[in-house]
Amino acid sequence: MKKTLIAGNWKLNGSLAANEALVLALRSGLPPTVACQVALCVPSVYLAQVQGLLAGSGLDLGAQDMSAHEGGAYTGEVSAAMLRDFGVRYCLVGHSERRQYHGESDALVALKAQRALACGITPIVCVGETLAEREAGATETVVKRQLAAVIHVNGHCISEIVVAYEPVWAIGTGKTASADQAQEVHALLRAQLRAATSQADRVAILYGGSMNAANAAELLAQPDVDGGLVGGASLKVPDFLSIIAAAG
Ligand code: PEP
Repeated sequence: MKKTLIAGNWKLNGSLAANEALVLALRSGLPPTVACQVALCVPSVYLAQVQGLLAGSGLDLGAQDMSAHEGGAYTGEVSAAMLRDFGVRYCLVGHSERRQYHGESDALVALKAQRALACGITPIVCVGETLAEREAGATETVVKRQLAAVIHVNGHCISEIVVAYEPVWAIGTGKTASADQAQEVHALLRAQLRAATSQADRVAILYGGSMNAANAAELLAQPDVDGGLVGGASLKVPDFLSIIAAAG
């Protein structure tokens, strides 16, 4: 049976001093055995530092984005193989902030997922609708379109991905999808995966969007919610520890 996965997304936050304090506090606050898997998706420049801080902890290292290219003349990009060199196990692809501010298309996200898988990194493929799309009744169409692009390119190994349903209107806003709203979309995504692979039940589908210490247990209790992608609350050690405890 797959373990619940709680992944923290630090976004554009951190410093050498703050990262050290956060990871050390997290490590000392965790119980000796943690029932769920925990990953920290950190800014690329801090991968080496956080890799060292996590050594021997059982927590996994993650990145927030990667190039769709293998290598070459792509100034400023970081490849999947480079991430692998630093022990990265997970990489977010298609986070709504990348789609929104960097114009990432469904096709590009699918290629990034493909490159990650080729390098032994598990892509956490983010999908989610905007408020306008939800209000227009387009949630199902949008999330299925986003996932379909990834299935199309990665069909043969689609059961190796992680999916994160992140309604854009819930990210960083303090507005969380209700447990029923989350479960409804997760069930749609699971059905879409089932149509693509007999191994759909192996795919972890995380919920993300203002998950916090108070709402985590109810969200994580939903049958198709297999974990959380946690932004703001992953920077507050007591809150992140409570979410991890709720996942146990
Ligand atoms: C995120 O950035 O993926 C996220 C879910 O952020 P927050 O938890 O702050 O809404």
